[in-house]
Amino acid sequence: MSIEISKEICIGCGQCAQICPGTLIRLGDTGKAFISHAERCWGCASCVKECPVQAIAMFLGEDAGGLGGRLTVRRENTLLHWIITMPDGEKQIITLDSRDANKY
Ligand code: SF4
Ligand code: SF4
Repeated sequence: MSIEISKEICIGCGQCAQICPGTLIRLGDTGKAFISHAERCWGCASCVKECPVQAIAMFLGEDAGGLGGRLTVRRENTLLHWIITMPDGEKQIITLDSRDANKY
């Protein structure tokens, strides 16, 4: 499982690099984020949730039931909108309130 960072969308805030528990993300010479050693990414999605402009997408392979889809997250105050985009463009959105994170 790995992520993809869009250089076109990235604004170079560095939040993903700070949050990655494996220190796998860095800012390059252009100030844009990139992942080093993508094979070490274990798909925790922390960077995906942290990016304020949805520049990071996680690949959802068949093993994750995603059949090649991509996952991005849009924050809206305490709400997290988990957006799954399938290869044919179809989208599914799951909204969770981060205040409920420890509820269950
Ligand atoms: S998904 Fe987790 S491990 Fe992978 S790059 Fe993002 S923060 Fe790091
Ligand atoms: S959090 Fe998003 S915008 Fe900020 S550096 Fe990372 S990819 Fe770029």
